[in-house]
Amino acid sequence: MGEKVTGIERVESGWRLRMESGWGAEAPLLVGADGRKSLVARQSGLALPVPRKRVALHADVAALEEAPPFGEMHVFRDGSYVGLNNLSSREVNVSTVCDPAALRGVAPHEFLNRQLASSPHLRDRVDRVAGPAKVGATFPSSHAVRRASGPGVALVGDAGGFIDPLTGEGIYMALWMAEALAGRLVKAGPVGVAEALASYGAERARSHRGKQRLNLLFQRCIVRPSVANGILRVLACRRGVGDAFVGLIGNQYRPALGVARMMGAFMGIWE
Ligand SMILES: Cc1cc2nc3c(=O)[nH]c(=O)nc-3n(C[C@H](O)[C@H](O)[C@H](O)COP(=O)(O)OP(=O)(O)OC[C@H]3O[C@@H](n4cnc5c(N)ncnc54)[C@H](O)[C@@H]3O)c2cc1C
Repeated sequence: MGEKVTGIERVESGWRLRMESGWGAEAPLLVGADGRKSLVARQSGLALPVPRKRVALHADVAALEEAPPFGEMHVFRDGSYVGLNNLSSREVNVSTVCDPAALRGVAPHEFLNRQLASSPHLRDRVDRVAGPAKVGATFPSSHAVRRASGPGVALVGDAGGFIDPLTGEGIYMALWMAEALAGRLVKAGPVGVAEALASYGAERARSHRGKQRLNLLFQRCIVRPSVANGILRVLACRRGVGDAFVGLIGNQYRPALGVARMMGAFMGIWE
């Protein structure tokens, strides 16, 4: 705790970690829970190059009108989006995810202010971001891996692959992966570590695939206003359709079951 890992190497007994302070540690099993820029994923050879790199900016600002008790996502025509999450009835967290090229020559707070000002749904609801010191930045807001485990190593949370979120995926997947890995390791005991890691990697790939495809499809749809509005009309036409959609993105249902429930609700078979 409190130590930064600066290097990882394979040794006969497993792994050796180097810390910034000069301290070192050895372990037979290495679990990388070190986020989207995972050193463990890169140095263990599990990381993949990410084709689409986006940047996220975020700031807390005053709400000019009482903030509603739910999050909002506002999609812009260029594919960027602004998320609003209320911190209290008077303060809102504003985040934007965009192409880094859009930030060239613009101060981050000015970029956020321009985006807010350009939307008739946002401009009168939240205050301007006062200055650059108020803005946090996250780059890249993506990460991909070949697999979430390899010989003697496992990746958990964003380190094991990042799905551009619809809502809650990041936290859900991080907890799900930690539980799935720990459960397998405990059950297998010291002699079954290799099988436990292989089974974890396979299960992670299986569970990730459907959701990843669905999210990619959804993200292609939401940047096309006519398609996005068509989807919204379908979701709003019957209560059960919208509920099934929320269950689908909230991981209550696996993708195939979520889509089946939506279709069932649309046709009036399922409420
Ligand atoms: C703009 C934005 C909005 C998001 N909104 C949501 C949302 O609404 N809902 C949701 O569920 N998810 C959201 N996410 C995703 C969510 O934040 C992540 O999925 C979640 O934090 C993953 O947890 P983690 O523990 O895997 O990684 P992290 O939270 O990134 O934690 C990794 C930790 O490892 C540490 N670390 C990294 N490298 C080293 C090193 N070399 N040595 C030592 N320590 C190291 C870091 O300091 C950090 O503490 C969002 C992400 C972004 C970028």
